[in-house]
Amino acid sequence: MSDFTMTIGGEAVATDGTFGVRNPATAEVFAEAPECSRAQLDAAMDSAAKAYRDWRADEDYRRCCLREVAGVLMGSLGELAPLLTSEQGKPINDANLEVFGSAMWCTYFADLEIPRQILQDDDEAFVEVVHRPLGVVAAITPWNFPVNLAFWKIAPALLAGNTMVLKPSPFTPLSTLKTGELLRSVLPPGVLNVVSGGDDLGAWMTSHPVPRKISFTGSIATGKKVAAAAAPDLKRVTLELGGNDPAIILDDADPAVVADGIFGGAFANNGQICSAIKRVYVPERLYDEVVEALATRARAVTVGDGSTNESKLGPINNAPQYERVKELVADALAHGAHAAAGGKAMDRPGYFFEPTVLSDVSDGVRIVDEEQFGPALPVISYRDVDDAVERANATHFGLSGSVWGTDTDRANDVAGRLEAGTAWVNVHLAMGPQFPFGGFKWSGIGVENGPWGLAEFTDIQTMHRSRSTSGLSPVSSMVVP
Ligand code: NAD
Repeated sequence: MSDFTMTIGGEAVATDGTFGVRNPATAEVFAEAPECSRAQLDAAMDSAAKAYRDWRADEDYRRCCLREVAGVLMGSLGELAPLLTSEQGKPINDANLEVFGSAMWCTYFADLEIPRQILQDDDEAFVEVVHRPLGVVAAITPWNFPVNLAFWKIAPALLAGNTMVLKPSPFTPLSTLKTGELLRSVLPPGVLNVVSGGDDLGAWMTSHPVPRKISFTGSIATGKKVAAAAAPDLKRVTLELGGNDPAIILDDADPAVVADGIFGGAFANNGQICSAIKRVYVPERLYDEVVEALATRARAVTVGDGSTNESKLGPINNAPQYERVKELVADALAHGAHAAAGGKAMDRPGYFFEPTVLSDVSDGVRIVDEEQFGPALPVISYRDVDDAVERANATHFGLSGSVWGTDTDRANDVAGRLEAGTAWVNVHLAMGPQFPFGGFKWSGIGVENGPWGLAEFTDIQTMHRSRSTSGLSPVSSMVVP
């Protein structure tokens, strides 16, 4: 039996089967989560489809609900944040920020105008373009920011008039299930359904006939499967996928000035951020100084159980990811890299890995070419900035990137040459509900956030009201003899 329930049609739904959820700080199972059956998924889709009929009709009411959702989240910080830390591993301060950020997303979208554009207003016709909701949205989230990334979808989708069936990652289902429980008192039954289960459940959702849209955040490999599953039914998709973000330091940068920003951009959430810095390109002249500045910070940061206030970095979230980071670091060391800081797993229970800075490493080594998604950062030297930009872009990834230097105009010019959905200058990971976020190339399709993200939960409808009494449009009067 699980202490957590799914939310279907506004009701608590228990299941016959459950699966264990581990605390990554101990690697022990500490709770059971419900395993959704196919019949229960059908019920969730049905309830979302029924709820859509009324939910789409009243925009003001939807805005009020989103404001109430924000209030519930803020009022539940003390319950949600520790649960998030237990299943995800992140330090409690970061968990608090994640829940707070989710409330912020709801408040932002509650006030965001749904655009209407008048194209013609004269004696002949009144023509405007409006945005209509799509119907039921199937939303699938990963384990690095389970609550916040869910609200990147919930807030705009619900504002636009859609209803939703939401599935969190099997590694971090509990905070999302709890969110569903808390919101039963705020949202009408069926508007937000929360189901939990393994990867199969995600595949059932993407091939299910009811949803008209899939909003997916996760890996590139799964994103491709989602796109394929959506194709036969021409479901709309937004795919927020993996990244291998480069940071390019220019030769006029001061390592002492940029090191904090680069370290934070790489190691926040223990490196488990799609758009974290995953490789740093440094001019030869500054190389040793930058490596040492980053390594000093990596050695000094307190790693530990996220539930204690002192911990600044927690464990890696799950065993497969922990094994992957170990493998990529070992591979780099075997290919001649030097661990300027860290370099191995920590000798303690749980999935802890030393914050690692790797020098003497370059393109062609797996940890540079692939997404490590963990606390290990390769630092690569370059001679010529054009060459650095070319190497930064020589990848299927294109999520984001940053350029660091004292001459910010020059840095801005270089940043504009990055093939990435977001290009930052002298900062990394600066995000907000108003900034569109998405990937070039294999890092995704579409964007989330801002009016652009809202539009992705709609179809455009052209409303054309004739003002002529003949009923003939200018075109039909041209073709009618
Ligand atoms: P993942 O692709 O393994 O899983 C993501 C979700 O998809 C989970 O809920 C999983 O159960 C589900 N899933 C698995 N197989 C499925 C299938 N066949 N059909 C439908 N759903 C399926 O990713 P992950 O390991 O949970 O997350 C890490 C990845 O997510 C990294 O690559 C990271 O870069 C990426 N990510 C991207 C963003 C972004 O906004 N671009 C944000 C966070 C994470």
